[in-house]
Amino acid sequence: MEYKLTFGKYNEALKRNKLMGLKCNDCQTITCPPKMTCQECTGTNLEVTELRGKGKIVTFTTIQVAPEGRENELPYTIVMVELDEGPWIIGNLIDIDPSKTGMELIGKKVKMGHKVFSGDKYSNGDAARPLFSFAD
Ligand SMILES: [Zn+2]
Repeated sequence: MEYKLTFGKYNEALKRNKLMGLKCNDCQTITCPPKMTCQECTGTNLEVTELRGKGKIVTFTTIQVAPEGRENELPYTIVMVELDEGPWIIGNLIDIDPSKTGMELIGKKVKMGHKVFSGDKYSNGDAARPLFSFAD
């Protein structure tokens, strides 16, 4: 089997502010981040598609104890976003005071940008990750 969209290509697109996913030609489900198979039917009849990067917050957490190397970013808020196209992805939330987050975040509409995080001793160099802000 082959990866229609490797994590490397997904990450390169993210650095250009493009969110790529996979559309299943059998059941029409969108998979994102990329996997080898459709997340719904496990089929491999997939094609690469660009997503709009818009959705709503379904859950969140505020990080108070950072992984090694990220201590100076504390505190920060991570959100899980249900994209308009269906899949759920994780990213950082900006435009808020992380010490004042609450349940009012649930359901808020957001749009995606990205941030490039520098590599550390556990990773393979710099990597882009989704960064969400409130949609107008
Ligand atoms: Zn499918």
